[in-house]
Amino acid sequence: MAALAEGAPLAFHLWVFCAGAVVGSFLNVVIARVPKGESLVRPGSHCPKCGAPIAWFDNIPLVSWMLLRAKCRRCGQPISARYPLVELIAAVLAVAIVRQLGPTVAALGYFAFAAALLALAYIDLDTWLLPHQITWPLLAVGLASPLWNRELPWHSSLIGAAAGFCLFAAIALIGEKLLKKETMGWGDVWLLSGIGAWLGFQALLPVVLLSALQGSIVGIALIALGRDPAKAKEPDQQNASPADDDWVPPKHAVPYGPFLSLAALEHLLAGNRLAAAWDFLLRRLFA
Ligand SMILES: [Zn+2]
Repeated sequence: MAALAEGAPLAFHLWVFCAGAVVGSFLNVVIARVPKGESLVRPGSHCPKCGAPIAWFDNIPLVSWMLLRAKCRRCGQPISARYPLVELIAAVLAVAIVRQLGPTVAALGYFAFAAALLALAYIDLDTWLLPHQITWPLLAVGLASPLWNRELPWHSSLIGAAAGFCLFAAIALIGEKLLKKETMGWGDVWLLSGIGAWLGFQALLPVVLLSALQGSIVGIALIALGRDPAKAKEPDQQNASPADDDWVPPKHAVPYGPFLSLAALEHLLAGNRLAAAWDFLLRRLFA
């Protein structure tokens, strides 16, 4: 917190926090509507249970959910805690990125990157899909990001996108052709390519390792707890994609997209510290 007090003024961070929460509110719309192919603007926000339109004063990020005590004003049915959670995560990410990069265009770019990852993570949790409507623009804008991000050389972005694509495409093809089963979804291939474009090729190995490690830990923990994450969907299926009904997730599997997104954000915000910790660990073990 020391940096917050002595760096940019508190009021600025508060403003960034609020702006992040507003973007998070929009991400909730993206998460609910993009998998169903619905418009992001029309109709306006409505209660997913009773369909009642939500007035602006009941739609203030973070605040309204608490004032309404997590219940729809009209039908009184519970409003999922996920809505304020996504808003809170977006707000915290906005502050963290601005603290890391300062009030720069690069920070704004990386916040857009983080917002897309957040939406993709939740869509993947809901539907086991990473829609092209998000992954392809993510890749395209990432390839353009050296325009405003001086820290990222063009060749690093380009190689990162190409290498990320080839690495996971190889795994996907090996699974499809040799093992005759889905080892890697094509959504994950496009997502890693986009991450490579935004973070550069140096980020690919740490991101893949971090995501695999954390995904394995969560997967093992869920099996140990006797929970089948594939069936542990929320009772309200409003976000499930209708086209996806015939496909059943493999038993004891967790979608990989959320872990790729998480690892990319960890690398963006704490990459240097993680590398130092890793280095320290290796020296302790082998020196
Ligand atoms: Zn309602």
